[in-house]
Amino acid sequence: MPTKANLQVCLNHVDASCLLCNAEQEDSEHIFFRCPFARALWSAACWGLQVDNVTLTSTKDIVSFIMEPPASLIPTHKAWSVSLNMALVIDEIWMSRNLKQFSNIDPDALKARQNIQTRFNEIVKASSSTTQHPKEISSKNWTPPPSGYIKLNVDAAIQQDSGSALAVVARNHLGEVLSI
Ligand SMILES: [Zn+2]
Repeated sequence: MPTKANLQVCLNHVDASCLLCNAEQEDSEHIFFRCPFARALWSAACWGLQVDNVTLTSTKDIVSFIMEPPASLIPTHKAWSVSLNMALVIDEIWMSRNLKQFSNIDPDALKARQNIQTRFNEIVKASSSTTQHPKEISSKNWTPPPSGYIKLNVDAAIQQDSGSALAVVARNHLGEVLSI
């Protein structure tokens, strides 16, 4: 992450102070979990989650924290919804930080909380109408679109070390590939 602490390693003139509180150095752990703005968002947007006792010093720690949410939240909320909400909190914190950095707009915890809720609802609504189990998708035969339509098939792969790939194939009603 291009936090100020990371930038300062390469650029000596960078002031590493946190933009949002000016009290600590802006590293990943501070901006996402220790800064008062972050703590307010976690508490307000993630079912009162307290992050004080979690050690999250690397990006890997943060990803693991999101992918394996605290067990205390799981009995009342599905694990995927907790992970999604946590990822949205992280994203909202970074966007709020960037608004301050590049537009000098002060962070607004209430607005940020509303943004998280709106995006959460949008994703849940979109996924609930389209989500299929991967086995169901792979077991279905491809069928051509009606005449006059183009069907797009999309696939994506994310790999830890060798980068990611996205493929889109467009076919017409005869099954002819028009574009990849
Ligand atoms: Zn701060």
